[in-house]
Amino acid sequence: MSADTEGCAFCRIANGEFGVRFLYEDPDIVAFHDIAPKAPVHVLVIPRRHLKSLAEASPDQAALLGKLLLAAGQVARQLGVAETGYRTVANTGADAGQSVAHLHLHVLAGRDLAWPPG
Ligand code: AMP
Ligand code: ZN
Repeated sequence: MSADTEGCAFCRIANGEFGVRFLYEDPDIVAFHDIAPKAPVHVLVIPRRHLKSLAEASPDQAALLGKLLLAAGQVARQLGVAETGYRTVANTGADAGQSVAHLHLHVLAGRDLAWPPG
């Protein structure tokens, strides 16, 4: 375990430490409900392996990044919002308000989502 992954809440969730229910899982990815939902549907899709943010992603992770988007689509279908619409967001860095330093895609749906975001 590296200094980054040690104490990382999302690494711990992905490891099953907190018994969080996964809406989707495969060998590379897990998805679970956001603890403080900002919309009726608010799911986080994360890689199991610690990656701080999109800013640190490298070309050899292209397949993983694509899989994250496909998993977001899968979750949206499962939750019945694929037709009505959903927003997929990755906050990267301080100005974007990233608060957890483990890459995650937000999947938000179930209400009229304002644009542009604040
Ligand atoms: P961000 O601000 O883009 O980094 O998003 C982090 C998200 O993680 C926020 O929406 C939090 O509500 C959510 N979050 C933080 N801790 C947990 C947790 N233990 N389980 C589920 N969601 C969490
Ligand atoms: Zn992590």
